[in-house]
Amino acid sequence: MQTPNRLGDWKVLPGSQIVPSDVILNSPDFVVCVDPEFRIEGVGGDSEAFLGVAAEELLGRQAIELIHVEDRDRVMGNMIRYAEGKESYRPELRLLHSSGHAVVVEVVGRRLRRPDGVHFLLVARRQLGLGVRQVADDIGIGILRCDPLGEIHESNAAASVQHGYEGEELSGRIQDLNVQVSGDSKDCPDAQLHPALRYLNGAGTASQVVTIIGRDGVSRVISFDARRVRYREDGTPGVIMLLRNVTERYEMQQELYRRSTRDDLTGLLKRSAFLEAAEDLLAATARPGDFPVGEQKLFGVLFCDIDRFKSINERHGHGEADRFLGQVSEQLEASLHTVESSVVYLGRIGGDEFAIAIQCASRDEFEQLADGFRAAVQRSALETLHVLVTASVGVSFYDPNVGQTVEELLDEAGAVLRLAKRTGRDRVLHFDSGMRAVRSEQSRLEGVLRSALADGRIEYALQPVVDPYTGMISGAEALARLRDDDATLVPAAAWIEVAVAAGLSSAVDAAVLEPVLALLGSLVERCPGGLPVIGVNLSDTSLARPDLADWIFSLLERYQVPPEAFLVEVPELVLPVIRERSAEALNRFRDKGLWLAVDDFGSGYASFNEVRDLPLNTLKIDRSFLTEQRDSADYIILRTALEMTHALGCRSVAEGVETQAELDVVMELKVDYVQGYFFARPMPPQDFVTLLLSAKPVAPQGSAVRQITTPGQRVGSEDE
Ligand code: C2E
Ligand code: CA
Ligand code: CA
Repeated sequence: MQTPNRLGDWKVLPGSQIVPSDVILNSPDFVVCVDPEFRIEGVGGDSEAFLGVAAEELLGRQAIELIHVEDRDRVMGNMIRYAEGKESYRPELRLLHSSGHAVVVEVVGRRLRRPDGVHFLLVARRQLGLGVRQVADDIGIGILRCDPLGEIHESNAAASVQHGYEGEELSGRIQDLNVQVSGDSKDCPDAQLHPALRYLNGAGTASQVVTIIGRDGVSRVISFDARRVRYREDGTPGVIMLLRNVTERYEMQQELYRRSTRDDLTGLLKRSAFLEAAEDLLAATARPGDFPVGEQKLFGVLFCDIDRFKSINERHGHGEADRFLGQVSEQLEASLHTVESSVVYLGRIGGDEFAIAIQCASRDEFEQLADGFRAAVQRSALETLHVLVTASVGVSFYDPNVGQTVEELLDEAGAVLRLAKRTGRDRVLHFDSGMRAVRSEQSRLEGVLRSALADGRIEYALQPVVDPYTGMISGAEALARLRDDDATLVPAAAWIEVAVAAGLSSAVDAAVLEPVLALLGSLVERCPGGLPVIGVNLSDTSLARPDLADWIFSLLERYQVPPEAFLVEVPELVLPVIRERSAEALNRFRDKGLWLAVDDFGSGYASFNEVRDLPLNTLKIDRSFLTEQRDSADYIILRTALEMTHALGCRSVAEGVETQAELDVVMELKVDYVQGYFFARPMPPQDFVTLLLSAKPVAPQGSAVRQITTPGQRVGSEDE
């Protein structure tokens, strides 16, 4: 049986011995055979399509006449060299169609040695354009042309490689190629179709990026650009596609995206990516009707934080602390599978702060997650740091009546988290509507504070510091005061916290510092016997100012205040940070003769070393250790603190002494100074000046309770 071939009839000149081989039989398009004089002796294939001429008419003609005039010299020169056996030759050239236009072809030649010389069998294949294929192959652009039914008419080597067919030309129908297309089937039902077919179906766009798993099993990200064409030569419709392998660029982008959304250390979502993902989840949860009645899902946010992480960093170093955090996030992720029927996102939104967004069926799952986090922290700490570390979690639920955003939920969860920290840590607290009221009061206060700062209406009170053995005033502490819209004083405990949360604490410090120094400057002449030492409180943000020392020195200079009349109070809680960042400024303070006090000593677990390493010379012992009972634990701490003060060569101030009995205790323990309601309350600065200039011992005011019930007897008390 004869194999059907695409050449059609093979027409030959009488006497020609040449018959095309199998190779030629399988090649498409147009074949001619020429004798050593380049006279056409055999023709096969669709000569009408290529040249607009019947095969018989070509026999006996000079082959060169079929070629575009501009290409003739080049092609002939090369053919002669080829005939001499010099090199292989696959020219691209233009054939002359009888209609006058050029048909670009690639010619594959074969030498046939005969007794009368070298004959050639030439197979012409239609091309996109002169040199285009070559260039495209060189730069790795795949070319694919097919007809509307998917039959491939043309492809190049790059396209073969892109489909995992290296070394073999793509042929047949696109739908029969041995490749898989992986796409996002959720959004698009025919995403698994080859993009060429999608384009032909009218579904795909002209430009697409898809992942193709080639015949060789390798995944490649391929960018397709397609155009419908109609061949000028024969008017047949088709599609030409340019393919680029963009895997590397895609992977790089993926990595960049990953890095921009994921935290390096833990691989968890960063804050902004977390908020975005959680916001989508919240939107999906809040849509009623998405869930059957009675199965409406809950949405909530957990704000998780490791207790005393600062001191972990301090004591174990950053490397260890990082390993610990990495471990926590790993264990946290592992614990997620215990929470079923829920969607969960994890984020690391601060150094030791993790956030979880969850959509779930019941509140139990929130508890499970919170416990999962706390267990992850405990276990990781035991494994990596060999110590017990606890964690606290704040939880806030989405309430459709309130309509919080994720950021607001996180805010609420953060607020209860801070409460959990203040009330003993190692716990989970839920945000409730009572807290919402507190928070709205806080944001109101923030407004009051902001406008007071803007208008220079922050006031301060001075609370005398007294030498209990003589009753004489040795100095005072300046305490910031804020008036509410109705002119009453807002308790400092309430608004100082608001100032810290709003990042306004250093503005408050500055608002007190300047008038205090102005007052001290004005006292220089009026106190020939020596100035009182007035202390100000500096928050950690003020203490972290890079220009801390210069800032203070310039103010002392401006108001002509001798440095030894000024004291800076550093909260014990921030000593570890101060030791790292501000030690140099503190040393300059000491060299200049300023007083430096640790405030609230005993409340923040500062180590002896932390105090010793810094140039501190005053310890203000926290009020919480005051006691009247000499057999109590507080008494022992108080005694130790005072002994330590003396051992360090520092002055001691007992804060918050309210009763004679408390005073007796601290005096027995040889405290240097006392500050408390027993002697005097914080008072307006001018009252303090009057008291100071009277140069009389301060009369004890009796117990604080009595003071409050009989305000008339107070010494220069504030009009609270
Ligand atoms: P602090 O630095 O420990 O200030 C001492 C606080 O104890 C003052 O409260 C004072 O009124 C109070 N106090 C004094 N004697 C007694 C007493 O006998 N019994 C009791 N129960 N309390 C007494 P205040 O004025 O409410 O200030 C609270 C805190 O606000 C201060 O605690 C300080 O941490 C902060 N603060 C005040 N002013 C500033 C400031 O200008 N900057 C900064 N950063 N913080 C400030
Ligand atoms: Ca203080
Ligand atoms: Ca204090």
